Amino acid sequence: MTQSKQHKHTLLKEIWGFSTFRPHQSEIIDTILSGKDCLVIMPTGGGKSLCFQLPALMLPGLTVVVSPLIALMNDQVDALKLSGVSVAAMHSNLKANELSDIEKQLIQGQIKLLYVSPERINASGFATFLSALNISLFAIDEAHCVSVWGNDFRPDYVLLNKLRDSFKNVPFIALTATADDSTQQDICQQLHLIEPKTFVSSFERKNITTEARPADQKFKNVVEFLQKVPKQSGIIYCLSRKETEKISTKLKQNGYNCDFYHAGMAADDRKRVQRQFQDDSLQFICATIAFGMGIDKSNIRWVIHFSMPKNLEGYYQEIGRSGRDGTPARALLFYSWGDYIMLKKFIDDSPAIETFKIVQYAKLDRMWEYASANECRTNLVLNYFGEYRSEPCMHCDNCLAPPKSVDATLIAQKALSAIVRTNENVPMNLLIDILRGSFRAEVREGGYDQIKTFGAGKDISYINWKIYITQLINQGYIRIDYTDHFKLKTTPLTRAVLFEEKKVRMVDLTFSELIVEKEKPKPKKRIIEDELMQKLKEWRSDLARQKQVPAYVIFSDKVFENIVSEKPSTTADLLRVEGIGKVKMEQYGKDILAIIQGYLTSQDISKNVKGQTYLETLQWYREGLSPGEIAVKRDLSEITVYSHLAYLYTKDEPVDILKFVTVDEVNTVEVAWHKAGQEMAIAAIAEHLKEPIEFHKIRLCLAIIIKKNKKSS
Ligand code: ADP
Ligand code: ZN
Repeated sequence: MTQSKQHKHTLLKEIWGFSTFRPHQSEIIDTILSGKDCLVIMPTGGGKSLCFQLPALMLPGLTVVVSPLIALMNDQVDALKLSGVSVAAMHSNLKANELSDIEKQLIQGQIKLLYVSPERINASGFATFLSALNISLFAIDEAHCVSVWGNDFRPDYVLLNKLRDSFKNVPFIALTATADDSTQQDICQQLHLIEPKTFVSSFERKNITTEARPADQKFKNVVEFLQKVPKQSGIIYCLSRKETEKISTKLKQNGYNCDFYHAGMAADDRKRVQRQFQDDSLQFICATIAFGMGIDKSNIRWVIHFSMPKNLEGYYQEIGRSGRDGTPARALLFYSWGDYIMLKKFIDDSPAIETFKIVQYAKLDRMWEYASANECRTNLVLNYFGEYRSEPCMHCDNCLAPPKSVDATLIAQKALSAIVRTNENVPMNLLIDILRGSFRAEVREGGYDQIKTFGAGKDISYINWKIYITQLINQGYIRIDYTDHFKLKTTPLTRAVLFEEKKVRMVDLTFSELIVEKEKPKPKKRIIEDELMQKLKEWRSDLARQKQVPAYVIFSDKVFENIVSEKPSTTADLLRVEGIGKVKMEQYGKDILAIIQGYLTSQDISKNVKGQTYLETLQWYREGLSPGEIAVKRDLSEITVYSHLAYLYTKDEPVDILKFVTVDEVNTVEVAWHKAGQEMAIAAIAEHLKEPIEFHKIRLCLAIIIKKNKKSS
């Protein structure tokens, strides 16, 4: 291993606490270190920031990071500071004196990483200021903002190419989570990247389980879902501000710890909710999709779409807010034909030009296809983003609980016949009312209560009819005439079903369970782990409030999960936990160990050992103290410490007894033990020894013998 490679891994562990790189990270870092430009396309949560933060610490000079989102910038700055990195951010929210302080530090070379907003970078005089500094790397985050093809164009970004032109010898890395082929090319051109090496990671978010269900009894379903994710952070996305307030109020009345969040709130309220959500004092928020990028919290465990979003880009980005820390997350989407019609109307009524509208309609159709799909949802999205794959993903509802298809010819015939008998003159809602035998005014006025199929589908619920008709549309038996008030029309395939006995199969609608796993009684170990997790989170929440940083920048949920499953008892063990770096260990190690120890002792449980006294001995032993030293520390006799070690050894704790006795001594004691009739009393064994051995040693030998015999029996 070369020195720089070794250094790269050392830093990864020391600063971030990770022992391995995620896919592409290592190659990207090497490319930067070799002085070349890079374009990195990696989904949210893929680990983009490490790709420029780590080389920043290896390169001699300053790394400048351009990022358009102040909240995200602040998160990264806070997290790096906590890990002991000298870092600063410059953006419009800073006061003049704060800015000049940072400038001073930059001139003195005290800062390794500087985060800057694009407005700031383009401000007059700033480029000149930068040219006086020793800059080793530029990182352009959210690089899709430079392209009009992307979904978030920012004119300020285009000016960044001037930067590229004036710093010809400094490598540039551009990063984004969303860029199709044309956007990728555009980014390279717009930023004037020099022969960039491009890294494209899969868009698949393996840790997110996706599920979609028809909007039937939504509120009841939401409550059922919430019961299965107690205390976990989440977002409920709503279509309107009013809806966020309504749902949040109703859930609060049901005892949930939540609030609403939308762009129409007073700035103070918005800040308050955002802060409470970030330090985990609020479990979840009900938000509009238009709430901006203000919230980017890495421990969001679930996302619910209370209504269907208008396109898959938006949907995927929103569910992508969950599980950014890599631990499992869930996304639940409710969809209804009503949502579709409403979103379609939004496009109809928008002032946009026709060509733009055509694209929007097509995107909405793909969203509907996704929502009502019976095949792997992940593949549907990946294909949409140009990543073609057909193996099942095994983390969507359709893969995990494949819908059963059944012969539904009769149902199809009823629907198609009703369409024919209404002269293809009614939209879906009215058709269902006719099938279900409703006497509402519109049915009677159209004379539809007189046709033969009136009431022929009484036995099927309204919502199920919607799903059946949608399936018939997707299978090509029915067409929606968008140009004629969404009326349902027949297609060339209709005839075969009505007159040629063509069989139709549809998905069985008797399913009803959410795929979120049902509550099983938890094993004791799991209860302990959940409680310990809760203790750690409470500690993190308090610290977050004290330090005024989001809870997850202190430690991610993922790191806590690692701690909980390993339950380290010494600093050395804690440092081995994935996600614990050196600086954080020094700052918080003691607190964390105390929480674990305190909790386990209060429960009178260690991994294997009961009793505080053994645990304390074990802890000192693991710290490397000799039995004599432990005895002094604990004010016990050395003999007692040996007996503790013997006991711990029998409980499978890693105690190396052969440090204190020889193999010969063990053999001798074993012979005596057999002679004594496998007696456990030390004195009885001693009587059968040819040469005397100290009692505490006999006890240690006996521990080895007992364990060996237990194993072989
Ligand atoms: P992105 O910017 O691509 O959305 P982040 O840089 O925020 O993603 O990283 C997402 C999460 O993954 C963070 O919690 C980060 O600590 C974690 N992470 C990044 N790299 C690694 C790694 N090599 N090993 C373990 N976790 C990692
Ligand atoms: Zn799937």
